[in-house]
Amino acid sequence: MRRIFRRQIRKTLAQNVPPILQEANFAFSKGEYGRAAELFEPIARAADGRGGPRAPLFYLQAGRSRLLAGQGELGVPSFRRGLELLAQRRQFQRLRQFGTRTIQELNERGLKNEAAEIEAWLESVLPGMSVSDAPVKRAALPTHCPSCGAPLRPDETEWLDEVTAECGYCGSPVRE
Ligand SMILES: [Zn+2]
Repeated sequence: MRRIFRRQIRKTLAQNVPPILQEANFAFSKGEYGRAAELFEPIARAADGRGGPRAPLFYLQAGRSRLLAGQGELGVPSFRRGLELLAQRRQFQRLRQFGTRTIQELNERGLKNEAAEIEAWLESVLPGMSVSDAPVKRAALPTHCPSCGAPLRPDETEWLDEVTAECGYCGSPVRE
């Protein structure tokens, strides 16, 4: 009985987005990347500490914020930790997606060595054969999560059904 109760609480909490997350997303969308990074880093560490499912995404967004703030080297540890968590959790499809994107973003910002290092590591941890998933046609989503303000990228959302996705940042269900 207690179990059920707890699950209900968690469900309720998912709708109550932490203000710091909204603030981080808001800073990011305004282009205040240094500020966004300072907010995403503790969010990511806290999520990591409790084994939270969204920790990888928070780390990657922290890394990306540093990159966009022109502080790429400060972002590399976050990128690494985010990808490492995906590898530990054996989320290989996401690891491939996020890893490829991270390498691309690092290269674009001139961090070639860091990109090459991550690429080599990625090749060592990803299972050999690459399964290219056929793209599934899904409903369109709003550009930002109405609950927490995170940008809704197709690769950062989890689809619950054909028309409903779950925001990767706050867990709220989102529809068109
Ligand atoms: Zn959200």
